[in-house]
Amino acid sequence: MSPIVPRLIDMHCHLDLYPDHPALIEECDRHQVATLAVTTTPKAWRRNIELASRSSHVRVALGLHPQVVAERKSEIALWEALLPEATYVGEVGLDAGPRFYRSFEDQKAVFERVLSACAEAGGKILTIHSVRAVGQVLGHLESLLPPDRGRAVMHWFTGTKAEARRAAELGCYFSVNAQMLLQPRHREVVAALPMNRLLSETDGPFTQNDGRPSRPADVSRMIPELAALRGVPAETMRRALVDNLKALVTP
Ligand code: MN
Repeated sequence: MSPIVPRLIDMHCHLDLYPDHPALIEECDRHQVATLAVTTTPKAWRRNIELASRSSHVRVALGLHPQVVAERKSEIALWEALLPEATYVGEVGLDAGPRFYRSFEDQKAVFERVLSACAEAGGKILTIHSVRAVGQVLGHLESLLPPDRGRAVMHWFTGTKAEARRAAELGCYFSVNAQMLLQPRHREVVAALPMNRLLSETDGPFTQNDGRPSRPADVSRMIPELAALRGVPAETMRRALVDNLKALVTP
């Protein structure tokens, strides 16, 4: 997301699920929010790339979301074909929650192909979903994506402190959203994450702000709270997030 120096970071937002996708891209540029537009299917890649092509702050990630694998597992072939065009990958990962557990074996097969392709290509940055499957996601990363072949950002991480330590040892970053900071157990984990691995996200439109879907510029509202949790001034936190993104994207 260089060479511009952004003011804010939204490392995970589904821009294409909003009715005003083009307006949101303009908003990201106007508010200087470096935004990773994640996709749930590789069929959305082309349109996202077209819309973001002139944006200074929006980058697009090539995804195949674990929650759609039940219906879309065959799209892994299209995902693989498009991978050479992508630097960012996501949303990908595993979801062992009750609604998606039926497809868990297929999810694992798809995620293994994603990680193997990324490792072979090198230089990709992944935003990873790990609902009720943190241990398995980390196991897959450990065996299939060596840290020097790609970088992983754990999105909306809900694992334990021990799992967070294991992820950090594997080189993972963590993108934190405002909703995570509402839950005491998750606050404790966020408070213990390495400062140099923290990033911010909205996961919009799946989170809310003032009763409407969060927009990337809303990350500014969570920074004071995240800063207080970490015991640093808000401006220090804002700069740390920008520096962390820079470190993540610098080969
Ligand atoms: Mn998401």
